[in-house]
Parts: sequence; C-alpha cells; structure tokens
Amino acid sequence: MKCPHCNNSVGWFKGLKRIKTGDSKAKILACPACGEAVQRHFNWKLFFVLMPVMAILLLFVVRPTVEATGLSYLIGVDSGLMGVLAMLPCYYLKDAVAA
Ligand SMILES: [Zn+2]
Repeated sequence: MKCPHCNNSVGWFKGLKRIKTGDSKAKILACPACGEAVQRHFNWKLFFVLMPVMAILLLFVVRPTVEATGLSYLIGVDSGLMGVLAMLPCYYLKDAVAA
C-alpha cells in the first residue's frame, strides 16, 4: 500500500498507527514515514476482477499441485489462501482529510 502523501510503501502488519479520534467508526491511521492521516479502503472492482483469476489458478494450478504432492490436508487451506491473495492487493490508502 502506498501512502497518498509521501508515496512511501507501507507494510501490511506494521507501520500504520491508529490515530485516536472521537468517532470510532472512522479508522484514521498515520503513515509511519510522514505521519499524515490516511484511511484504508477496499477496491471492490479490483477484487471482483482478481477473484475469478485466483479461482482459475486454484483449480488448474494450485489444487493439482497440492494433490500431486500428496498434501491433501491442505485442500481448503489453499482456497482460503487464494482468497487472501485476491484481497490483499485490493486495499489502498487514501488521504483521510480529503475522504
Ligand atoms: Zn506518508
């Protein structure tokens, strides 16, 4: 995810700090590089484009590989993983002031 203020790429599980606001619904976050307020949004359009791609990859690439290597206990886990992989690129940061 890129910060809209300084174009610093922000990590997924670290970096962004929650800024305490009166309104608990508005999750205002702070960029670790410039400290400006940003908000995380979800790009549903991109998600609906990526989802079928991930489903095809799962059925024709991941699932046959899982079955071929005898790791059948990973069936189910693999579809969850592909779902997460489809979701992660859909998150983006937006200027919290302008939003
Ligand atoms: Zn920044």
